[in-house]
Amino acid sequence: MTTEVDEGQPWEFNFYSKDFQLKNPDRGTRLKEEYNLLMRWMKGIQKSLEKEWRIAFNSKKKDAPFWEERSQTFKSIYENVFSEWESKWESITKKSFLQGSSLAHETFVNSKVIRDFKNDSRLLNKLTLLDRPFTDPKVIDSLLLDTLGFLRYALDGAEEKTTKVLKITKQTLLDDERLNQDIAKGLIEKNTWEAAKKNLQDDFEKALKESGIIDGKFIEINGRNYRLDSYAETLARTRIREAQTAGVQRYAETSGQDLVRVSDHSTLTEKCEKFEGKIFSISGKSTKYPKLEMWTPFHPNCLHVITVYIDVVSIFGYDPYEGARDKVNALSDERRKELREEVEWKERERKSPPKFVPDRSKVSITQPKINYLLTDPGKSRLYTQELGFSTGNPGILEDSIRSSLDKEVTKVLVTENGIKYIIDTPIPNPNNDNRVMTVVWQKDSKSSLPKFVTARPAKKNKEEKK
Ligand SMILES: [Zn+2]
Repeated sequence: MTTEVDEGQPWEFNFYSKDFQLKNPDRGTRLKEEYNLLMRWMKGIQKSLEKEWRIAFNSKKKDAPFWEERSQTFKSIYENVFSEWESKWESITKKSFLQGSSLAHETFVNSKVIRDFKNDSRLLNKLTLLDRPFTDPKVIDSLLLDTLGFLRYALDGAEEKTTKVLKITKQTLLDDERLNQDIAKGLIEKNTWEAAKKNLQDDFEKALKESGIIDGKFIEINGRNYRLDSYAETLARTRIREAQTAGVQRYAETSGQDLVRVSDHSTLTEKCEKFEGKIFSISGKSTKYPKLEMWTPFHPNCLHVITVYIDVVSIFGYDPYEGARDKVNALSDERRKELREEVEWKERERKSPPKFVPDRSKVSITQPKINYLLTDPGKSRLYTQELGFSTGNPGILEDSIRSSLDKEVTKVLVTENGIKYIIDTPIPNPNNDNRVMTVVWQKDSKSSLPKFVTARPAKKNKEEKK
């Protein structure tokens, strides 16, 4: 199982759980492309900001229009950032949302419960089967506005800071100028000038350092300094994640599901550990699972994913899978083996019929069957009157029938219910009737012992004509 190795591609949300894995159904390439393009563009912005700051610090021109121009340039860069995001972010949000709803959909329709009980009314009463993932323009719109709001706030902070730092720079440079003029006038001693200039320079450096400008941290949010490009990256990742989560949320809502599961990739993040791989109730109404207090991302750059979970036990009121899975598998395995052996056995007996009835020393002839032959209105005439057997001594008929087993099998008949071994032969009888009888023996299965089925006069055939 992976740890957070997918760092940098948080939308590739392959879903891992103990008994379940799902690869991102939407490879996300276009989303990734769009994200990468915007981030690369932001790196370019960061570079031009750095360049602008160098110009502000190093240029020899220090007049009022110069400072006005600096200020305007920064302003327009920030405006540019905003309008770029405004035009690109909607598509990214939409695709992210769709990924979330795809993930939920795939998890849903591919779950064993849905596959097994798709048409079960108990399930359909609780859940709505959706055809496909979907987008929700309202949600996407509000996510977009929310993100742009954050960005606006950050850019305002950047502008404010720019003004502040430009002012310090301008002041320092002007003061430097004044000092130069002073020295020209010879009003300040050389030592003093050097010291004054150094102090001024130190204060300036300190101000730049504190403002983060030296480290390229051009934006300030709540008193903290950030680089614009890395801030944008964090904002983007987090918001993509949120849009994905919104997709899952809306899917769960629409399909009537209250339970969700958090992905499990053996996180190293303490904050995520308590959620990982666990099942939660969105509403908090489940008696079995705790309320989901927080949706992903649990923190900036969090790679955890939440997706839907169907608890068939709470829907059915019992576990339809309890123990059954193993038993059914075991049984069907056994049954499959039996069937295969049966088919092979029949094939064998058909292709090369045995000379004698198999296990002929162990055949059974039931008393009711003998009685039937002796008493049935359709049979009794033959057995009692023509062949001379009697109800008073059925054992004689039984022995006579059994003696046919010493003869070779005439014909083997493979049927659905087993194999019939047919022996055409005269049987010993009190009246010494020599007619040929067809005696039928049957084995129900490969493992069962042969039993007597019936005996009747052989059809009029060549032997009788003889
Ligand atoms: Zn996480």
